Amino acid sequence: MADFDRERALPSEGVWRHRAHDVAHVLRRWRAVARAGRMAWSVIYETAGFPVYFLRSQGVGERPLYLSAGVHGDEAGAVLGLLEWAERSVDYLRRADVVVFPLFNPAGLALNTRGDLEGVDLNRLFDSPSHPHIAAWRRAMAGYVPRAAVCLHEDYDAQGLYGYELNRDGGLHVAERCLARAEGLLPRDLRSRIEGRAARRGVIRRRRLPMWEHLPEAVALYQAGTDCTLTFETPSEGCLQARSRAQVCLVEAVCEWDQEG
Ligand SMILES: [Zn+2]
Repeated sequence: MADFDRERALPSEGVWRHRAHDVAHVLRRWRAVARAGRMAWSVIYETAGFPVYFLRSQGVGERPLYLSAGVHGDEAGAVLGLLEWAERSVDYLRRADVVVFPLFNPAGLALNTRGDLEGVDLNRLFDSPSHPHIAAWRRAMAGYVPRAAVCLHEDYDAQGLYGYELNRDGGLHVAERCLARAEGLLPRDLRSRIEGRAARRGVIRRRRLPMWEHLPEAVALYQAGTDCTLTFETPSEGCLQARSRAQVCLVEAVCEWDQEG
């Protein structure tokens, strides 16, 4: 009997392996977005040989809209969603007032791990200037106090879409309208408590800061003066395409709301 030919038995890599964890591929597509959208891009930090990109629209002011994905490396749907949104939104990006961290933790994405190369959860460190990656973020953000911020995530425990909203204006319900836009692609997480916090139809709302140390990105931005921060979570066990499409809808809905104001 002939030896088992593994190479022939398995489909070629490109057929069955999607590229959501291919950092070089993701960054190449972002460079194309930056060129088409006439955005400035810079490398704020390097980790495991991968650059951490920071993109700014040509019309950026001191109070931009802030968009970020990939702080956790095992949340590929969020990274892909922000990228797909940007690729569809080049005209918007040309005239927008926006800053973007498209893939904050490229080493984690390559390894498919929540933490960075050392296993550190960067989203507990945004108030820790002693960490060089966070120090680089703070330098990049010096001079900017975003008017609103969107942090895109995924959650293995989620039973659907949900979001955290920190908003100084208690009359605004931004996360609610964003979830309404995306729920045709993925259902909302309807639990009354999510991650130990009271939730209403997938929205966890706060006006005051929920914590004082080990701050996530969204809370650190709120503490620094951002009026509204939105953290969206898609369920990690869902279909990748549905997750990324839902993330596209969430960012679209935020931009619509932002342009109304
Ligand atoms: Zn996350």
